[in-house]
Amino acid sequence: MIHHERIRPPSLDYPADEWNIVEKRFHPEFLAQLETMLALGNGYLGMRGCPEEGGPNVENSTLINGFYETRPIMYPEEAYGFAKTGQTIVGVTDSKIIKLFVDDEPFGLPDANILSYDRRLNLKSGTLDREILWETPSGKQVLIKSRRLVSFAHRHVAAISYNVMLLNAEASLVISSEMAANQLGPHTDVNDPRRTRAFAGRVLHPQAHYAKDRRLVLCHATERSRLTLACAIDHFIETSCTYAYEVTHTEDFGQVAFTIEARSECPIHLTKYLVYHTSDTASAQELCGHAEWTMDRVMRQGFKRLLTSQEQYMDDFWRRSDVRVRDVREDRTKRTTVEIQQAVRFNLFHILQASARAEDSGVPAKGLTGQAYEGHYFWDTEIYLLPFLTYTSPRIAKNLLAFRYKMLPQARARARELGHRGAMFAWRTISGEEASAYYAAGTAQYHINADIMYALRKYVQATGDESFLRDCGAEMLVETARLWLDLGFYSESKSGKFCINSVTGPDEYNTVVNNNAYTNLMARENLRYAAQTVKALKATDPDAYNVLVHKTALEPSEAEEWIRAAECMYVPYDERLQIIPQDDSFMDRERWDFRNTPREHYPLLLFYHPLNIYRKQVIKQADVVLAMFLLGDAFSLEAKKRNFEFYDPLTTGDSSLSSCVEAIIAAQIGDVEKAIRYGMAALLMDLADVGGNVRDGCHIASMGGTWMMLTYGLGGMRDDDGILSFSPRRAPEDNAILRFPVTYRGQRLEVEIGLEKVEYALLEGECLVIRHEAEEIRLTPEHPVAIRAVSRW
Ligand code: BGC
Repeated sequence: MIHHERIRPPSLDYPADEWNIVEKRFHPEFLAQLETMLALGNGYLGMRGCPEEGGPNVENSTLINGFYETRPIMYPEEAYGFAKTGQTIVGVTDSKIIKLFVDDEPFGLPDANILSYDRRLNLKSGTLDREILWETPSGKQVLIKSRRLVSFAHRHVAAISYNVMLLNAEASLVISSEMAANQLGPHTDVNDPRRTRAFAGRVLHPQAHYAKDRRLVLCHATERSRLTLACAIDHFIETSCTYAYEVTHTEDFGQVAFTIEARSECPIHLTKYLVYHTSDTASAQELCGHAEWTMDRVMRQGFKRLLTSQEQYMDDFWRRSDVRVRDVREDRTKRTTVEIQQAVRFNLFHILQASARAEDSGVPAKGLTGQAYEGHYFWDTEIYLLPFLTYTSPRIAKNLLAFRYKMLPQARARARELGHRGAMFAWRTISGEEASAYYAAGTAQYHINADIMYALRKYVQATGDESFLRDCGAEMLVETARLWLDLGFYSESKSGKFCINSVTGPDEYNTVVNNNAYTNLMARENLRYAAQTVKALKATDPDAYNVLVHKTALEPSEAEEWIRAAECMYVPYDERLQIIPQDDSFMDRERWDFRNTPREHYPLLLFYHPLNIYRKQVIKQADVVLAMFLLGDAFSLEAKKRNFEFYDPLTTGDSSLSSCVEAIIAAQIGDVEKAIRYGMAALLMDLADVGGNVRDGCHIASMGGTWMMLTYGLGGMRDDDGILSFSPRRAPEDNAILRFPVTYRGQRLEVEIGLEKVEYALLEGECLVIRHEAEEIRLTPEHPVAIRAVSRW
């Protein structure tokens, strides 16, 4: 239920535009929000949308995925097995700074007399573009145009094309291109656990700094995590104005200052290239060398080629992933459809930016748009992002699953530490080790094991990538299944059913409970899939099976034990209400006093002691309702309706992971009003700052959830039984046509849900069999299929 009005009117007056997020005037009051929204990234390197001048800014971080420092976690009262080492992503050298001085007058947004202003995140080209006309106090008009990109094709590279032209006079200019390390980190708030923690003092320790003509290199290393970072900048200047330059550098700072005698209407083009390399093994010298190789290559290619490759990458991405929303009345002035289209693309673009080149890392909860949640990887990746990636960019999905596989040794060690067999993936982590300092809402979320295996199954089913299953997946399945078997037990008091006690489900407002329904249901899937995989491997690929036995010391009897536990899995059920209680004690709790909770006391976690929350019937985020979405086939429509109606009034949605899931189930059960309200909340989570904390970074999981709303929710997509199926549903008054592509087993299908008919077309591939409602359809490129009749909610 929306207990407090969560959609704020977008006070940021960005115009409705299908391909751009445009800032039409400088908004000092929304600096932090825009830094997040206009951030650029490629999954490896990210930069917040701060102006080139280096300020003003609130959090000017440049981030590298997985580049973190550690700290000991200090507990006032220690206990065995608590996570010992905190991990926090750290801001790296900011090398995008370009300051401009005209006749010694510095250009700075807050004080400048701006005659025109346009800054836009261009979703088509993957760039941040800015065009400003500035009039200096002496009346000189200066046109400043810049284009910034973080390259998808070259993951270590970013570049800025910076152009200045005096329009009505000549002037002496200085363009100072700078790089700075160890700047102030983001604002931290000890009362808000979601924000990051600052390190006292210097985090990046100087290793080397040098210049070669207009090239500068700074190299630093972290002290405890022992990671090294080399950052290089280089420049290319093109102008017929006379210029000279000077280079300076210190341990934490580098500057190439161009002094230019600018003539009226004489363009000055400066291209700045930025290269970042990081390593946990290479020496400072080696890493600087790598940065220079990359720099040489990219400078040889030039900005134009970099831009072309960026545009190609984006074209390719949109071809595979674009969800189009079009109003049939073709009224392009109708703001809402364009706004929806804009929000959909904005969300998908940020997912790409968070994940595209995350090749040896996970996806932080905020992507690389901010340091909140300390750059940690959560279950967000597997449950909220991987469906989109699996069906549009399977290569990225595979990289992320492969990264989980790389964490298996740490997961095994963690299981041993907690006295379990098998493997236990960290609830939040960068290095693979548990970094959650609050076990009740951290380590206790054992469900992450099953979430990862759920995503694995979806990935294998959608791609047919049996070799990944054989080489990596099977081992993870064995170890996670072992964990469940070890964790649970056959309870006499529950008629010999398999029970799992003392865990926390997705809902962090009910912690350390017995038989969290979501956990048990997902663990059951995990156990079944493990048994099925092991048996199939034994039957079809004995060599691979032997390798697996060797790697895991698998006993022949284990698969049978997993099946037995799965078949005996206890799932709480309330006979009277005919719903699934969230856990064993949920129904015994007193209902939260929503009526007397002021609107400004949400999210509750910032205003009430955890104990006050835990003893009440109140939910942070979808839990049983999420299970009903993920395991849709296991529930009848009536069961979904009853459970949704029971849980909805108790759900605060204090987590951004909730609305998208509630929207899907509301749509399935025909609750149009709620489907739309939740749907809009999820869709505009960041663009309209629904949660009030977009300043800290994008809500990447919710962004992934919006794709699920459109495809699984409106498209009625199902993929549970080895065949892709759709049962599209339309809202009664809805006149929009929805079109989306899906990549399935290497073939690309496009689904168009019109007003009266649904069309399926195979755009890439030879032949694909899918299902529409109960009917099987055979698609070939020559034979698209149109089916009349679309059910209305
Ligand atoms: C949610 C978690 C989520 C985390 C990171 C928390 O507020 O409760 O489910 O994984 O945020 O997005």
